[in-house]
Amino acid sequence: MQDIPFESVLPGLYDKNNHYGCAYIGETRFAGSGAVEVVSPNDGLVFACIETAAQKQINIVVESARQAYQQWSSVPAPKRGELVRLFAGQLRKFKEPLARIITLEAGKPLQESLGEVQELIDVCDFAVGLSRQLYGLTIATERVNHRMMEQWHPIGPVLVITAFNFPMAVWGWNAALALVCGNSLIWKPSSQCPLSALACHALLLAAIDEFGGNRALSSVVFGGKPQVEMLVDNKNIALVSATGSCAMGRAVGTRVAARMGRSLLELGGNNAMILCPSADLELAVRAITFSALGTSGQRCTTLRRLFVEQTIKENIITKLQAVYATVKIGDPFDQQNLMGPVINQQAVDVMLASIKAAVAQGGKLLAGGQVVTDKKGFYITPAIIEIDAQAEIVQKETFAPLLYIHSYHCLEQAVKEQNSVDQGLSSAIFTRDISEAELFLSAKGSDCGIANVNIGTSGAEIGGAFGGEKDTGGGRESGSDAWKNYMRRCTNTINYGSELPLAQGISFELPENI
Ligand code: NAD
Repeated sequence: MQDIPFESVLPGLYDKNNHYGCAYIGETRFAGSGAVEVVSPNDGLVFACIETAAQKQINIVVESARQAYQQWSSVPAPKRGELVRLFAGQLRKFKEPLARIITLEAGKPLQESLGEVQELIDVCDFAVGLSRQLYGLTIATERVNHRMMEQWHPIGPVLVITAFNFPMAVWGWNAALALVCGNSLIWKPSSQCPLSALACHALLLAAIDEFGGNRALSSVVFGGKPQVEMLVDNKNIALVSATGSCAMGRAVGTRVAARMGRSLLELGGNNAMILCPSADLELAVRAITFSALGTSGQRCTTLRRLFVEQTIKENIITKLQAVYATVKIGDPFDQQNLMGPVINQQAVDVMLASIKAAVAQGGKLLAGGQVVTDKKGFYITPAIIEIDAQAEIVQKETFAPLLYIHSYHCLEQAVKEQNSVDQGLSSAIFTRDISEAELFLSAKGSDCGIANVNIGTSGAEIGGAFGGEKDTGGGRESGSDAWKNYMRRCTNTINYGSELPLAQGISFELPENI
């Protein structure tokens, strides 16, 4: 086992043998069964062991979160914001070691990991402001001497299921908002990233102590599909917020719906960019490169399909081939490297299989797709394939640095093909023609949750609502009014008169002698 010196960020939870329990409520550690080894993608070495939780431990976690919610929901919202403000302070203090944990577990270049921690800080700041803005409407009523209004109330324990690729920020989007909205938290992180979860949990506990709150507001459960199923089937969980593949979302969403529960799904993407002849090509190439191979092509918003107008296709291919040839790949802690590894051997195998399938379906490999053999860990060169937009392989998300190029002759055709896949997360157009940009953003344009102009598909800010349509799950998290997912709306009508007029003018007169 590697020596991982992260004691400073894991106060009370650090295990010098890097052997962790199956669940944590506050600082209480529960022992589980079946220690699972966790391997770093950077060198293929085991850096931690986690245990998996059984039904008994999961029931304790949910009951404790339910009780913590009972107390927390009656704390005034601006005071709840104070806890999130203190948490942001902890994150600022430990930004660098937190980023190093992400790089160790998820293999992200350190710069990107620092960006992820910053995103977590940003969403906390946003939530602090929000804690004074959880407002409802006052609505004109049709009845005299009546008032109608909406209130937003907390809902209960929120279960947050996260993917490996944003091991801190995605939980943060949910946690910061859920806390100011008056809810308690249960986190089921990716088994690939246990230390990211324990570090955030530990720093939230430190903030809770400073605030003088209940440590049971935050808990963590390790495990895979069986543990997720035990959690999502529990009626005491008010909201299941799940981030991951479409397959996971379909499985989880169906179970939650079966018990008439609430889910918030943030699932896979198959993101596209349309490159018009009027575009600034230098800007576009930079955006394509970051979107396609940033985080080794393992962002939900990674650019997977590039539609290039046919007259500029050869030019853009030549430019991309030149850039791809210079990309430095290697240890993500070394800031010289622009790209780190993919997450595991399975990801390498899936990428190679997709390249093989694409070539068999008529694709032409234009760059990359080679396993890097002189390094330990899971390194592969980013690939570009020119292929028909309707090819079968193009329809699915290959979670790796694999970019498909298609050519188009008219914008309407490109938009139609862009929209023809099952997923609907992120999209972009590069153009200097305002009518092309406006068409793309209109109801007849991109059908995705995110549509950008002269910006790549990845790298969203926290202020906007984040999420996608169709098989991407329809959820919205982070900014704008995404907070409404973490509260329940209650419509109140108050009669302050001495009559009882009915809505729609209905007459319901009782006999006078009663
Ligand atoms: P994954 O679906 O394998 O795992 C995500 C989480 O779900 C993990 O905690 C895992 O333990 C759990 N899980 C997996 N299969 C399950 C099942 N059948 N039933 C119950 N729980 C299950 O995803 P991953 O490989 O960790 O992450 C990559 C995927 O996540 C990609 O598809 C990516 O696009 C997506 N993603 C989406 C967003 C978004 O906001 N839309 C953000 C990040 C990642």
